Amino acid sequence: MACDFYQLATPGVQGLHPYLPGKPVDELERELGISNSIKLASNENPLGPSAKALDAISAEVKDSCRYPDANGFKLKQALSERYSIETSRITLGNGSNDVLELIGKAFIQPGDEVIYSQHAFVVYMLVAQSTGAKAIVTPAQNWGHDLDAMAAAITDKTRIIFLANPNNPTGTWFSEQALRSFMTKVPDSVVVVLDEAYTEYVDQSEFPDGLKLQSEYDNLVVTRTFSKAFGLAALRVGYAVASEAITDLLNRVRQPFNVNSLALVAAQAVLSDTEYLQRSVTVNNEGMAQLEQGFKALGLEWVPSVGNFISVDCGKDAMPVYQALLLEGVIVRPVANYQMPNHLRVTIGLPDENSRCLEAFAKVLNS
Ligand SMILES: *Cc1c(COP(=O)(O)O)cnc(C)c1O
Repeated sequence: MACDFYQLATPGVQGLHPYLPGKPVDELERELGISNSIKLASNENPLGPSAKALDAISAEVKDSCRYPDANGFKLKQALSERYSIETSRITLGNGSNDVLELIGKAFIQPGDEVIYSQHAFVVYMLVAQSTGAKAIVTPAQNWGHDLDAMAAAITDKTRIIFLANPNNPTGTWFSEQALRSFMTKVPDSVVVVLDEAYTEYVDQSEFPDGLKLQSEYDNLVVTRTFSKAFGLAALRVGYAVASEAITDLLNRVRQPFNVNSLALVAAQAVLSDTEYLQRSVTVNNEGMAQLEQGFKALGLEWVPSVGNFISVDCGKDAMPVYQALLLEGVIVRPVANYQMPNHLRVTIGLPDENSRCLEAFAKVLNS
């Protein structure tokens, strides 16, 4: 008898579906035999990587036979200086996704409860499920997190609450005051993870700076990434800022060399490239305005977003629209798995890419 390995997997893993990434350009072009397609599907930085990061990688690549610095000393030092946080409160990760998993690994036992919002970033569900936690999903309010509902969902089994600010795929956000008020309702024994993957794009005076707030709340873990505004998605590097105790615990469960040497030097280099970050934000602001204008002209509605993406309402099942856009060489992201079956998430691109995307939408929706 052949063994049924599915039955051997833990119950959480049996119920998992693998993460669905944005379709790579190569794959689309292979399948359709087309060229010149554009990908606005994974919230990547359309500028390409910072030249400083590329130089740092080139200089480092000759040492690829060596293990990376297991403690990421220089990158932590750079983060410490840039954001005024002690290195003893920083955990580096293979993308912030890695850090989110480490938090789950450190704190969740089967049967524990994890709270996150409807339409929240899918990795929270993956972390909860793979660790055997029970996911408590609170209803969204205007597509965003309903922090009152989240606080009300806390029980004595709650271990972790995931908050995304801004959230992906909605681009919604909450204020510092709302966060502070929420934190007063959360017991010290519940770990609140504040995922700030898009924080560099946000220009709202009420928007909280998680790194500043972290020192006030021992149970607050703030995660950030170099994948989005810093333009290093392929290299996989992100980090958490937390209390020293939580940082120590995360350090126990991480792989010894979880961030590779090219990622370490590239992240350190781009951190000092303020001109690149500024340009990324400017291009994003202009592109957001361009897409909003274009969608408006097409009579489409969207969820107002402060990120580098925008979820547009197709007014009908979005899957055929997505497929038709692919035939036009435009890759966007369906978000039906986020309970948003009529929306498509579009990453803000360069001006030409945004124009092409809008032209493709016009063609596809009018046919
Ligand atoms: C993209 C994204 C991340 C970061 O992913 P990395 O693993 O750092 O590439 C984290 N949280 C949210 C909400 C995201 O959209």
